[in-house]
Amino acid sequence: MKFIADGMLGKLTRWLRMLGQDVKYSNQFKDAELIMAAKKGHRVLLTRDLELYQRTIAKGIDAFYLEGRTEAEKLAELAKQFGFPLAIDLKRSRCPRCNTKIRPTPKEKLAGKVEKNTFIYYDEFWKCPKCGHIYWQGAHWEGIHATLEKAKKFREKFAV
Ligand SMILES: [Zn+2]
Repeated sequence: MKFIADGMLGKLTRWLRMLGQDVKYSNQFKDAELIMAAKKGHRVLLTRDLELYQRTIAKGIDAFYLEGRTEAEKLAELAKQFGFPLAIDLKRSRCPRCNTKIRPTPKEKLAGKVEKNTFIYYDEFWKCPKCGHIYWQGAHWEGIHATLEKAKKFREKFAV
Protein backbone atom coordinates (compact mmCIF):
# COMPACT_ATOMS: atom_id res chain seq x y z
CA MET A 1 0.00 0.00 0.00
CA LYS A 2 1.37 3.40 -1.01
CA PHE A 3 -0.02 6.81 -0.17
CA ILE A 4 0.09 10.40 -1.26
CA ALA A 5 -0.86 13.03 1.29
CA ASP A 6 -2.30 16.47 0.59
CA GLY A 7 -0.39 19.60 1.58
CA MET A 8 -2.16 19.92 4.95
CA LEU A 9 -0.88 16.56 6.17
CA GLY A 10 2.86 17.16 6.58
CA LYS A 11 2.92 16.08 10.20
CA LEU A 12 0.88 12.95 9.53
CA THR A 13 3.20 12.15 6.61
CA ARG A 14 6.23 12.11 8.94
CA TRP A 15 4.41 9.76 11.32
CA LEU A 16 3.41 7.38 8.56
CA ARG A 17 6.95 7.26 7.18
CA MET A 18 8.31 6.44 10.64
CA LEU A 19 5.76 3.61 10.74
CA GLY A 20 7.24 2.30 7.49
CA GLN A 21 4.55 3.55 5.12
CA ASP A 22 5.51 4.84 1.68
CA VAL A 23 4.05 8.37 1.51
CA LYS A 24 4.62 10.89 -1.24
CA TYR A 25 4.24 14.46 -0.04
CA SER A 26 4.78 18.01 -1.16
CA ASN A 27 3.00 21.11 0.02
CA GLN A 28 3.42 22.51 -3.50
CA PHE A 29 1.05 20.09 -5.26
CA LYS A 30 -2.20 21.55 -6.53
CA ASP A 31 -5.33 19.40 -6.27
CA ALA A 32 -5.19 18.27 -9.91
CA GLU A 33 -1.51 17.31 -9.48
CA LEU A 34 -2.32 15.30 -6.37
CA ILE A 35 -5.02 13.39 -8.21
CA MET A 36 -2.72 12.71 -11.19
CA ALA A 37 0.15 11.59 -8.95
CA ALA A 38 -2.19 9.28 -7.04
CA LYS A 39 -3.36 7.74 -10.30
CA LYS A 40 0.11 7.38 -11.87
CA GLY A 41 1.79 6.07 -8.72
CA HIS A 42 -1.12 3.82 -7.69
CA ARG A 43 -1.22 5.66 -4.40
CA VAL A 44 -4.16 6.22 -2.09
CA LEU A 45 -4.79 9.94 -1.72
CA LEU A 46 -5.09 10.98 1.93
CA THR A 47 -6.95 14.19 2.58
CA ARG A 48 -9.06 16.17 5.03
CA ASP A 49 -10.60 18.09 2.15
CA LEU A 50 -14.01 16.58 1.43
CA GLU A 51 -14.28 18.19 -2.00
CA LEU A 52 -10.88 16.87 -3.08
CA TYR A 53 -11.82 13.44 -1.74
CA GLN A 54 -15.05 13.40 -3.73
CA ARG A 55 -13.36 14.62 -6.91
CA THR A 56 -10.75 11.86 -6.61
CA ILE A 57 -13.24 9.07 -5.92
CA ALA A 58 -15.41 10.27 -8.83
CA LYS A 59 -12.46 9.58 -11.16
CA GLY A 60 -12.18 6.02 -9.84
CA ILE A 61 -8.96 6.75 -7.94
CA ASP A 62 -8.49 5.51 -4.37
CA ALA A 63 -8.72 8.14 -1.66
CA PHE A 64 -9.30 8.18 2.06
CA TYR A 65 -11.05 11.02 3.87
CA LEU A 66 -9.56 11.61 7.33
CA GLU A 67 -11.90 12.76 10.06
CA GLY A 68 -9.59 12.61 13.10
CA ARG A 69 -8.46 15.88 14.64
CA THR A 70 -5.28 14.79 16.43
CA GLU A 71 -2.39 12.83 14.92
CA ALA A 72 -3.29 9.89 17.17
CA GLU A 73 -6.86 9.85 15.84
CA LYS A 74 -5.72 10.10 12.23
CA LEU A 75 -3.18 7.31 12.69
CA ALA A 76 -5.84 5.13 14.31
CA GLU A 77 -8.24 5.65 11.38
CA LEU A 78 -5.55 4.73 8.87
CA ALA A 79 -4.26 1.72 10.81
CA LYS A 80 -7.82 0.43 11.05
CA GLN A 81 -8.58 1.01 7.38
CA PHE A 82 -5.32 -0.27 5.92
CA GLY A 83 -4.32 -2.80 8.56
CA PHE A 84 -0.80 -1.73 9.48
CA PRO A 85 0.64 -1.94 13.01
CA LEU A 86 0.89 1.15 15.20
CA ALA A 87 4.44 0.37 16.25
CA ILE A 88 7.71 1.72 14.98
CA ASP A 89 10.17 -0.87 13.77
CA LEU A 90 13.23 1.05 12.61
CA LYS A 91 14.09 -1.82 10.28
CA ARG A 92 11.04 -0.80 8.28
CA SER A 93 11.02 2.94 8.89
CA ARG A 94 11.37 5.51 6.17
CA CYS A 95 13.07 8.86 6.54
CA PRO A 96 10.38 11.30 7.80
CA ARG A 97 11.98 14.00 5.63
CA CYS A 98 12.33 12.29 2.28
CA ASN A 99 10.53 8.88 2.35
CA THR A 100 13.70 6.81 1.74
CA LYS A 101 14.22 3.65 3.82
CA ILE A 102 16.69 4.38 6.60
CA ARG A 103 19.59 2.00 7.33
CA PRO A 104 21.47 1.08 10.48
CA THR A 105 24.83 2.84 10.66
CA PRO A 106 27.81 1.72 12.75
CA LYS A 107 28.38 4.12 15.61
CA GLU A 108 32.10 4.47 14.79
CA LYS A 109 31.24 6.16 11.52
CA LEU A 110 29.32 8.90 13.31
CA ALA A 111 32.03 10.27 15.59
CA GLY A 112 31.95 14.04 15.22
CA LYS A 113 28.74 13.90 13.18
CA VAL A 114 26.29 13.88 16.09
CA GLU A 115 26.49 15.87 19.32
CA LYS A 116 28.98 14.50 21.81
CA ASN A 117 26.36 13.64 24.47
CA THR A 118 24.19 11.87 21.94
CA PHE A 119 27.19 9.88 20.80
CA ILE A 120 27.99 8.90 24.40
CA TYR A 121 24.45 7.94 25.46
CA TYR A 122 23.18 6.04 22.42
CA ASP A 123 24.55 3.00 20.64
CA GLU A 124 22.17 2.46 17.78
CA PHE A 125 21.94 4.89 14.92
CA TRP A 126 20.24 4.93 11.54
CA LYS A 127 20.98 7.05 8.54
CA CYS A 128 19.01 8.07 5.50
CA PRO A 129 21.03 7.10 2.41
CA LYS A 130 19.40 9.88 0.39
CA CYS A 131 19.35 13.02 2.55
CA GLY A 132 21.97 11.90 5.07
CA HIS A 133 19.90 12.66 8.15
CA ILE A 134 20.90 10.62 11.21
CA TYR A 135 18.32 9.09 13.59
CA TRP A 136 18.44 7.56 17.05
CA GLN A 137 15.91 6.68 19.74
CA GLY A 138 16.48 9.81 21.79
CA ALA A 139 14.58 11.64 24.51
CA HIS A 140 11.69 12.39 22.15
CA TRP A 141 11.01 8.66 21.89
CA GLU A 142 8.73 8.64 24.96
CA GLY A 143 6.48 11.21 23.33
CA ILE A 144 6.35 9.10 20.18
CA HIS A 145 5.29 6.05 22.16
CA ALA A 146 2.67 8.02 24.09
CA THR A 147 1.07 9.16 20.82
CA LEU A 148 1.10 5.61 19.44
CA GLU A 149 -0.49 4.26 22.63
CA LYS A 150 -3.26 6.85 22.27
CA ALA A 151 -3.69 5.86 18.64
CA LYS A 152 -4.05 2.20 19.62
CA LYS A 153 -6.84 3.10 22.07
CA PHE A 154 -8.67 5.03 19.34
CA ARG A 155 -8.26 2.12 16.96
CA GLU A 156 -9.94 -0.22 19.47
CA LYS A 157 -12.86 2.19 19.71
CA PHE A 158 -13.25 2.26 15.93
CA ALA A 159 -13.23 -1.54 15.90
CA VAL A 160 -16.41 -1.78 18.01
ZN1 LIG B 1 16.05 11.30 4.06
